[in-house]
Amino acid sequence: MSRHPELARRALLSAGLAVTAAGALGAPAFAAGSRSARGGLAAPSISGTGAWDARSANGSIDVLDSKPSKIIVHHTATANSSDTSQSHAFALSRQIQDYHMDSNGWIDTGQNFTNSRGGHLTEGRHKSLAALQGGSQHVLGAHAGEQNDVALGIENEGTYTDASVPDALWESLVELCSYMVSQYGIEAGAIYGHRDFMATACPGDVLYARLPDLRSAVGSATGSVVVQPVVWPLVRPGATGPVVSALQLLLRAWGAGGVVVNGVFDAVTGDAVGRFRRKRGAPGASCYASRVAEPDVFGGSDWARLAPVLGVDASGDAVQAVQVLLTARGVRSGEQDRFGVRTAGSVREFQAARGLRVSGVCDHETWLRLLG
Ligand SMILES: [Zn+2]
Repeated sequence: MSRHPELARRALLSAGLAVTAAGALGAPAFAAGSRSARGGLAAPSISGTGAWDARSANGSIDVLDSKPSKIIVHHTATANSSDTSQSHAFALSRQIQDYHMDSNGWIDTGQNFTNSRGGHLTEGRHKSLAALQGGSQHVLGAHAGEQNDVALGIENEGTYTDASVPDALWESLVELCSYMVSQYGIEAGAIYGHRDFMATACPGDVLYARLPDLRSAVGSATGSVVVQPVVWPLVRPGATGPVVSALQLLLRAWGAGGVVVNGVFDAVTGDAVGRFRRKRGAPGASCYASRVAEPDVFGGSDWARLAPVLGVDASGDAVQAVQVLLTARGVRSGEQDRFGVRTAGSVREFQAARGLRVSGVCDHETWLRLLG
């Protein structure tokens, strides 16, 4: 923050943020939360586990001596309740904890924090609030498989497959994420949806589509530059296009020879996806939304498990998947069924255009850019 009040004020105005009377007098305040005494964003109101009468955890909570590097947004896949009261938010927190402990057999609530449709924030897993306030530790949750040790999880009440996001929930989500970014030094661009890492539709198409706006709002509130991330795509029954063709080719390369490469996510493709996920032990969705079975969606880390690293002399269906995607991205690859010098040259061209290390080898970073 600039020490010069006029510069600070102009910076705020240019960022499109409200400047209060206090700001005009030289102590700028951010629209999404004022500054605390030590310079970070002031904390939004978050009710701890004691306030909502949480049960004790069934085991010891892991408090890691490391900062989380990302935030993962979920939806609860529960009803879009019109009850915006705090008592309802507390009841929801108890309901989720009961489900996670009694049905999933977890030691405590899975996510670190919960956000209600009324905009009431609560602590999820015990000790998460103290860790966030301290800004140097992270509570290991259970909400996103392999990401749990580096990612904070926020469950947002509701089902956002096609319903719009309530303003109150949105504002508290921006405030909570901004505070997390401020406390831990997380990149504002490192706010993700559950589906970016696992094969699930969570947090719903509507809330997911607002994540770029969320990152921008958090970037504005914290004064940080936002780089929108490249992520693995989610594909579902009925999806069409080159990404589906690539999936079909990769499934064939893995051993699902019955899959026909037609660019349409059909029933045969869905069956092969289900078999792949069972055989490769790909972790299922682990958030509250996991009560909804999603056996035939494909996304997140499934891609990294399915797509092999390919270089010169590789051949077969996986090579054709690379070529289909290169063509779809506007890079002609020439050869069919074989990773020759022309395909390697096309991969290098694509890598250079996307700012990747230019190797001519289709590694996971390259697959991510080809698919994302
Ligand atoms: Zn989720």
